[in-house]
Amino acid sequence: MSDLRIRASSFGKFFDCAYSWEGEHLLGKRKPAGLRALLGTSVHAGTAAFDSARLNGNEITPDEAAGAFVDTLHHPEYDVDFSNDNIKFAEAERIGLALTSKYCTEIAPLFTYTAVEMPLEPLTIDCGGGTTITLTGTMDRARVASSLDGSIIPDVKTGARVVTNGEANIKARSAQTGTYQLMYEQTTGERTVGAQIIGLGTTSKTPIAVSRVFDARRVLIGNDETPGLIHLAAEMFRAGLFPPNPQSYLCSKTYCSRWETCIYHE
Ligand code: SF4
Repeated sequence: MSDLRIRASSFGKFFDCAYSWEGEHLLGKRKPAGLRALLGTSVHAGTAAFDSARLNGNEITPDEAAGAFVDTLHHPEYDVDFSNDNIKFAEAERIGLALTSKYCTEIAPLFTYTAVEMPLEPLTIDCGGGTTITLTGTMDRARVASSLDGSIIPDVKTGARVVTNGEANIKARSAQTGTYQLMYEQTTGERTVGAQIIGLGTTSKTPIAVSRVFDARRVLIGNDETPGLIHLAAEMFRAGLFPPNPQSYLCSKTYCSRWETCIYHE
């Protein structure tokens, strides 16, 4: 564990349940994704096709973005266990089409994007004692948008709980979006002013919402009194400690590949 390379997109999950993260990313205990995960991937493909085309000055309609959604849903590039979720394929398709349409017509016009799925320069964290972690990858589902105050990192999130009471849920989102803020700043030399969550709810009513701008970066780097998450992660990696979190909303047979052998959940 002296020079560990991990994808930036998994860093959020590390702080959700480190024990689960260790199982998946260090010990190779993986399980096929369920239909809800494929729904999220497919909605992302549709919205990213829409934003990328517009960013490049190309014409694209919401119907064409819906085509990218359908294509990904019907032709997944990874193993999917279609029995692993409580949703039927036709319902997933209906929800995804509604969300892709709402995104293109109601959310995308609110933003002036400057990058979609941007590749990021690796960010190396010195854990001390000769151990380093290097975060790699692209911004995955996040974009970069310009605002009057500077650049913002809006991150598209899908799921049943991403919109609650009409608001995009930002709880426990800072580890992921703050990582993107830091890596974007390292890649470009430009300071960001914060992150935003674009919530696309995959329940039957397909709620959507955009959160306020929040500074996730400070959660990563901490302040004079309190260590940031990067410091805590470095200590955990150096010590080889990966604590469980049975209170995680991903703590279930459906989502955790370590469920069968983990003794920490009920
Ligand atoms: S079963 Fe729950 S506590 Fe155990 S590793 Fe998975 S998410 Fe963590």
